Amino acid sequence: MKDRQLLMIPGPIEFTPKVLRAMGMPTTSHVASNFVEVFGTALERLREVFLDPGGQPFVVAGSGTLAMDMAAANLIEPGDAALVVNTGVFGDRFGEILQRYGAEVTHVRAPVIGDAPPLEEVRAELGAPSTSAGQGYKLMTITQVDTSTAVAANVEALAAMGREHNVLVVVDGVCSVAGEELRQEAWGIDLALTASQKAIGVPPGLALVVAGPRAMESFRQRKSPVMSYYADWTKWLPIMEAYEARQTGYFGTPPVNLIWALNVSLGEILEEGMGARFERHRRVSTGIKAAITALGMAQVPIGDHVAASTLTAPYFPDGVDRSVLGYIKEAGVILAGGLHPEIKARYFRIGHMGVVNESDVLATVGAIETGLRQAGYDFDVGMGLTAAQEAMEQDLKPGA
Ligand code: PMP
Repeated sequence: MKDRQLLMIPGPIEFTPKVLRAMGMPTTSHVASNFVEVFGTALERLREVFLDPGGQPFVVAGSGTLAMDMAAANLIEPGDAALVVNTGVFGDRFGEILQRYGAEVTHVRAPVIGDAPPLEEVRAELGAPSTSAGQGYKLMTITQVDTSTAVAANVEALAAMGREHNVLVVVDGVCSVAGEELRQEAWGIDLALTASQKAIGVPPGLALVVAGPRAMESFRQRKSPVMSYYADWTKWLPIMEAYEARQTGYFGTPPVNLIWALNVSLGEILEEGMGARFERHRRVSTGIKAAITALGMAQVPIGDHVAASTLTAPYFPDGVDRSVLGYIKEAGVILAGGLHPEIKARYFRIGHMGVVNESDVLATVGAIETGLRQAGYDFDVGMGLTAAQEAMEQDLKPGA
């Protein structure tokens, strides 16, 4: 029996009953006509969720790291220069992946953990590359929300800079797509990627990529073969095109139940509407963050202008350590510990993606208050709850 604990970590998240039912359906053949219809519909819906009507979706069994690997493997050729806008450990990871495929990688890093690199620095680097041969960048990566710091990058502004310099703009949206506002086509993003287990609302196991026309053209113009067999679009593109045309194709057996579940979840997301969904994530985040502040805790992001709306990363208050997470769990809510190696023991993370609503915020804040009291932290009970409620009500007011 599932105990009634609330999973508030930055993925996997809570899944809806309909999605879980799809996971438990009798598995069909991957060429069964009803599965072909579901896969085709899921591909079409993915374009709508990424807000990229002209993009080419790829749905492949794997985690978010495979989606990153796919971007690098297909777009990088040995000797290409790549720029990583680095806001935490997932920027480091992207740098490593790009390097593995032969890119010369430059990072523009935030001045302190919890900040984002200044936009002017990125602009300067794009305009006057500090690469070995002074060669221009082929590609830049942006982590929309780095899950190790809860920092949100200004994707719209960064992507516009990339466009100005004719650089392919790649967005790691693993901790953002379908939660944080992301408009792939309108913002000029050439490739966006995510994984199933976060705001997309499907159990772990799917790498999701939408590649725009410039990314596909760059792939077609390659002079060297793709250096990964499994990630090669030469193999996957005909499969995606076939399913979308309601035909079958085979390269690697698709994870049938995950794709059923994906189609259900994308349907639920589109039913809510992307604008409403972005708003709800913002509102929930405002509630959590107001509570954290009211309870006297600082956060890793240095200010609201760089704070994600899909997760919150509070520092433990003085005298409290990660044992408080055990008390919070006993009170019914599972939170995550720190991830960034330099501050790992000093902070924790609250994921608020997917179906999360105002009641979940209050349950979470209530459990945090209970946990903090048990850890010996002194505060007036209810301060966090009041702040969360007020902030969310304020956010609902017309014109707010
Ligand atoms: N990028 C970001 C921003 C992430 O948060 C994660 C997962 N936490 C990944 C990439 C890697 O995804 P996965 O763990 O599914 O491989």
